[in-house]
Amino acid sequence: MNLNPHQLDQDGYDVRGFSHGLYIGGTWRQSSDGRLIDVVDPSSGAVIAAVPDATLEDATAAVEAAAKAARGWRETAPRKRSEILRRCFELMVERSETLAMLISLENGKALRDARGEVAYAAEFFRWNAEEAVRITGEFGTAPSGTNRIMVDYEPIGICVLITPWNFPAAMATRKIAPALAAGCTVILKPASETPLTAYALAALYSEAGVPAGVVNVLTTTNPGPLTSAMLADPRVRKLSFTGSTGVGRTLLAEAAKNVISCSMELGGNAPFVVFDDADLEAALDGAMIAKMRNAGEACTAANRLYVQSGIHDAFADGLRKRMAALRVGAGTNADTECGPMITKRAVDKIDRLVNDAVSRGAKVLCGGSTLEGEGFFYPPTVLADVPPDAAMAHEEIFGPVAPITRFEAEAEAIAHANDTEYGLAAYIYTRDVGRGMRVASRIEAGMIGLNRGLMSDPAAPFGGVKQSGLGREGGQHHGIAEFMEAKYIAVTF
Ligand code: NAP
Repeated sequence: MNLNPHQLDQDGYDVRGFSHGLYIGGTWRQSSDGRLIDVVDPSSGAVIAAVPDATLEDATAAVEAAAKAARGWRETAPRKRSEILRRCFELMVERSETLAMLISLENGKALRDARGEVAYAAEFFRWNAEEAVRITGEFGTAPSGTNRIMVDYEPIGICVLITPWNFPAAMATRKIAPALAAGCTVILKPASETPLTAYALAALYSEAGVPAGVVNVLTTTNPGPLTSAMLADPRVRKLSFTGSTGVGRTLLAEAAKNVISCSMELGGNAPFVVFDDADLEAALDGAMIAKMRNAGEACTAANRLYVQSGIHDAFADGLRKRMAALRVGAGTNADTECGPMITKRAVDKIDRLVNDAVSRGAKVLCGGSTLEGEGFFYPPTVLADVPPDAAMAHEEIFGPVAPITRFEAEAEAIAHANDTEYGLAAYIYTRDVGRGMRVASRIEAGMIGLNRGLMSDPAAPFGGVKQSGLGREGGQHHGIAEFMEAKYIAVTF
């Protein structure tokens, strides 16, 4: 592996302590053709490490390893599986500061966000350790009275898990923990931009007692053909994907060829609706969390802010003050509140969306243009009077830009909120709980924050409607159910 020690020692932290070869069948290896993928620190643009670029041969080896481990893991007692998952949780908590630094380094997010991510990611192990021993079936009498109906839940089989760069730890553990609790073996393909966290976690699983081959991790610059090859193997029965709607659509078509079960956590375009009667400070606090967690690089990020006329000016001014005061800097700096974007391409997209909105009449209240210097930074930005035909009202901004649009009536806010192909998250601020519940029931989204700017919780079902996805992750039974198949046995006795 190709490490640049000068970039690795930021703040006394050194990624050289981590293995980051392909992790297949419990061993670390280079790719079969020796090619590497550079990992870049988005705060500086410098290459900080390199990881193997897996080939089709490596992907086949990963499926073989997962298949070899499948029976043993499926037959491991739920209590034992639960204890191993619990140990994964404990090790993540013990190493949370190191893992947070690694996430900040390769993803760029502010350390405080990275710490929050590690805590959230670890919770998936604790939650699923508790759920692993509570998977139950059903038993009843057929309406005809001729037989009994028994339903058993079995692990679905080998799972291919594909994750994005914006939550390098949590998007992986949100899939791995329930899959392992259900008794499945997995192959994880993390995003090429943030592979180091996925490999650091792989080492931790093995230390926690996860047997060789139960979790395999590979990185590649050739994800389409490798995924197709894995899905074409009849032993692979599940694809769980988190990423953009475009790639999700392609993968659904690919999975259809082999009738593979799919869970899809896709893009979002969350509306954030503030009514006149909202608690102004609470709405501003919520907007800052919903907009600025991960510097706006979140699928649940408030992408459009609809604010009723009576509170509009006070809200816009309050948001401008808070956004303009944020400290922008390298993710690993202790006092950074808004880190860099993941790539230069991401900055260019944000710049295009802001210029488009301004050309259609939006007013810049703060920020609004790219920053000079190294790294991939965009300043916290607030826009007012953003018209409904602005491109950013329909595309994910995925950056620190808050576009505000004024509205008068409740029905108008609901119509705006639903004017999108996405349906992942939505936020509503009002002191009138009756109105809050009414609006929540009319907004087309899988998740609603009512007087809350944060809804992610391993104990709650996470997922979207419309073009935002299929299936749910987390929740009391939803997350594990995605990795199980019902078997019905008709019994006469
Ligand atoms: P992306 O471009 O769709 O990539 C996601 C993952 O898919 C990466 O690992 C990527 O690999 C891989 N990939 C790309 N093309 C592929 C193909 N043809 N076949 C198989 N895998 C392929 O998304 P992203 O830019 O990383 O992430 C941002 C998106 O994720 C946003 O739309 C965001 O809303 C969404 N997201 C959704 C949720 C949710 O829970 N709903 C959570 C987080 C993020 P490479 O990195 O190697 O290209």
